Amino acid sequence: MSENPEKHHQIEIYPHTHQKRISSRRPLAVWLVVLLLGAVYLALSHAVALSWRDNGRSSASSPPQAVCVQPAALFPSDADGKLEEAYGHISSDAFRSKTIERLSGAVQIKTETFDDLGEVGEDRRWDVFFGFYDYLEKTFPAVHQTLRVEKINTHGLLYTWQGRDSNGLDAAYRKPTVLMAHQDTVPVPDDTIDAWTYPPWSGAYDGTFIWGRGASDCKNQLIAILEATELLLQHGFQPKRTLLLSFGFDEESFGYHGAGNLSAVIHDRYGDDGLAVVIDEGAGFENVWGTLFAKPGTAEKGSTNVEVTVRSPGGHSSVPRDHTSIGILSELITQIEATQYPARLDERNPYFAQLQCGATHAAAFPPKLRKLLARHRPSNASPDHPGHPDPLAIEAAKQGPEIKYLLQTSQAVDIVAGGVKVNAMPERAKAVINHRVNIGETTQVVYDRLTRIAGGVARKHNLTLHAFDGQDEADSILLVAPHSSESSPISPADGSGVSPFSVLAGSVRAIYGEETIVTPGIMTGNTDTRFFWDLTKHIFRFAPGYDPEDQVGGLRGIHTINEKVNVNNHINAVKFFFLFVRNIDEAEV
Ligand SMILES: [Zn+2]
Repeated sequence: MSENPEKHHQIEIYPHTHQKRISSRRPLAVWLVVLLLGAVYLALSHAVALSWRDNGRSSASSPPQAVCVQPAALFPSDADGKLEEAYGHISSDAFRSKTIERLSGAVQIKTETFDDLGEVGEDRRWDVFFGFYDYLEKTFPAVHQTLRVEKINTHGLLYTWQGRDSNGLDAAYRKPTVLMAHQDTVPVPDDTIDAWTYPPWSGAYDGTFIWGRGASDCKNQLIAILEATELLLQHGFQPKRTLLLSFGFDEESFGYHGAGNLSAVIHDRYGDDGLAVVIDEGAGFENVWGTLFAKPGTAEKGSTNVEVTVRSPGGHSSVPRDHTSIGILSELITQIEATQYPARLDERNPYFAQLQCGATHAAAFPPKLRKLLARHRPSNASPDHPGHPDPLAIEAAKQGPEIKYLLQTSQAVDIVAGGVKVNAMPERAKAVINHRVNIGETTQVVYDRLTRIAGGVARKHNLTLHAFDGQDEADSILLVAPHSSESSPISPADGSGVSPFSVLAGSVRAIYGEETIVTPGIMTGNTDTRFFWDLTKHIFRFAPGYDPEDQVGGLRGIHTINEKVNVNNHINAVKFFFLFVRNIDEAEV
């Protein structure tokens, strides 16, 4: 996309014709002359190609029209007085105080999930979700009286607002829209509660923010979806397209109980590719290069947790061996951390599209990035073989770790355990390494690298290596990957025609103004959408709330202390869902 196809053509065609001229029966002198001419020819064509590229630099400042096309601000065409009034009401003080109350109330209900939860119905810790549902039912009466509500695996919530035309002739382009959020939050460790400015389940409002666990991940999204739906119902909206709301309850603990079951029910009903679009929690806005970007996530990095266990003989520590299981594990971790995965920007990576959008629309786009973007070619670097590095990725990564890990596989040793007694050598030591896998790479790249490093350490200490083979024995190093997923398919994000992306982008620009550039984004984390890949190509992980006065942006304090959400940001999210549901209802997608 960034490179002109003609350029490839020019470079490749000359060596090809040159080869054709050579016949096997020519005398040596002719051979030499032809070779010499060929060399001159190649050098010349190379020089031409180079100067072509230099010209490309200036043309890169005005790239072809097809790159990063922005749809116009999109408003529903069937003007409806009551719905316009409802839209205006979202900006009122009356609505503001009501939604503060409703979101605060949702934050006050503790809905933590834990990695070691048992089955629903057996592990009592799930029971908190009964109270959460009661709260939603009481707080959004129109939604709960009008829409069909189904409880999937007890706590998963599936709301169906049947579309008028969804069984008619044009059902093909009236596939359902799905809006998603999760009811659960990550836990708050007891020893961090004192560090919160306001207690984590206070839902305190300080005049700007609502504070508490789940305030921005992602009860704000869940409440904003319900607020918009409630308003649409109260003001007589009748969708032509079926609207589904799907709220999982264990997104923070892999999602199998919640979204895993919800997606199965939805799949039974609508089948492969049976949905028009899915919007779930995700990336928000970024102010960079003098421009505001909205970045709905069109892809998710892959993810894998690798457990590394070292098993070596125990015994009394008064007569120790030189290296205990803990020491050997430490050596292994040190070797793993000594090399990082290379920064590499695959052209399918949504961040590549954001760079193109920056080059096209951002006045302050850095000249060095512009130059490297125009010359970009895929890299074959790997942790073991530097190959051709990717100068564009390396330069872009300098903007900071948030950007760097959009285009680099990450590794983090997050858990370590071993040893129980001060006078006994540990028979086992274990670490868990979390990886988020770059677009264009696979989890196999991670497994191959760890197998190689662990193999070296195992040989040195005379241990057997069991790398991802499911076996376990004494005197060994074991590698196991219990949870993994490859990077997601990439949602189409062409703003030039009518598509789910352009409806989303047009709705964003209707709210935030046409100076806002909508670019595909990429998620470093995972969402419940990974259970929806078969259901639609059009999945967007998007936090649509933004407050132009508050440049820090949306996801404050998620997964740590002092989680909070800016109320202006939350109200804009309500506007977005209200507008998006109407806009997508009209679109022929
Ligand atoms: Zn979340």
